[in-house]
Amino acid sequence: MSDWQQHLRDAIQDPRELLALLQLTEADLPRVDLSPAFALRVPRPFVARMRPKDPGDPLLRQVLSLTDEAMASPTYHLDPLNEHETVLPGVLHKYRSRVLVVFRGGCAVNCRYCFRRHYPYHSGTLRRQQLDDVLDYLRANPAVNEVILSGGDPLMADDAGLAEAMQALADMPSIRRLRIHTRLPVVIPARITDALLETLGSLSVPVIMVLHINHAQEIDEALADAVTRLRTVCRMVLNQAVVLAGVNDQVEAQVALSEALFAAGIDPYYLNVLDRVSGASHFAVDDADVGALYRGMLEQLPGFLVPTLVREVPGAGHKVPLMFDFAPC
Ligand SMILES: *Cc1c(COP(=O)(O)O)cnc(C)c1O
Ligand code: SF4
Repeated sequence: MSDWQQHLRDAIQDPRELLALLQLTEADLPRVDLSPAFALRVPRPFVARMRPKDPGDPLLRQVLSLTDEAMASPTYHLDPLNEHETVLPGVLHKYRSRVLVVFRGGCAVNCRYCFRRHYPYHSGTLRRQQLDDVLDYLRANPAVNEVILSGGDPLMADDAGLAEAMQALADMPSIRRLRIHTRLPVVIPARITDALLETLGSLSVPVIMVLHINHAQEIDEALADAVTRLRTVCRMVLNQAVVLAGVNDQVEAQVALSEALFAAGIDPYYLNVLDRVSGASHFAVDDADVGALYRGMLEQLPGFLVPTLVREVPGAGHKVPLMFDFAPC
């Protein structure tokens, strides 16, 4: 078993253990949910980046189950993006030139705000038959020139399975690039193995890696080293984040995130507004506050470190940019 698989196996699943590791008690976090419906799951390399004795730690807030998740909110839904409607099992084709493949159900970390927290994942990795079905679909739809491996988290699959699928996809004549959307290397940097790098570097099309990092404190030396290695084989290493109340809804946090991403060799791509998924309403930030946040970022960062601020709108053929009137005052 590889190091990263051992880290998966050792991930913390008991909220009490997480609190104890951080020298916190239930009295510090009276709203902790000790037996959440959506399981707690946090790999230890990620816990190591949390500040002990800080109940407000921005990394802890992303992963700790709270009773707030049980709050019913009429505008929050189980499937906010209509993702349960797929063209094939596990294949979403919402945008003309790209398909998103749920390559692997499940994640290394369970993020409490996740819009896929109620997604009915098929268990395990896409099987050979399903991969063949995807290849047939691509043959029938040559306007699709990019495949996005997503999940869950596609890097939960083992290196051999990934190599087989990525090679088959890259060899489709209509495919110009492959993309991987993953949070796994963020929480377990050891996931960037030599075998994975070898696969990514040997494909006939460029690969784009999109990571998911919400706060500068998530970037440590091990992650920066993993990104340095990734950059030798990927055409781009990008980041998408979600605006989360109490995590990164202050200008300083977003500026620090962009600067830390840049220092680690990662380029900001999207800043997503929270999807209205049941159980996540306590992470919501008002549009007006998001606008003020974004203005602050524009004032303090060079344009290439300002991610595009977007929202997912069910039925839209693309991510929808949030528009504000930023006339000079
Ligand atoms: C986000 C998303 C994509 C990728 O969109 P880009 O703007 O190309 O990053 C593709 N398909 C689906 C279903 C998505 O949700
Ligand atoms: S890693 Fe991504 S898909 Fe998985 S729980 Fe977190 S936000 Fe959701």
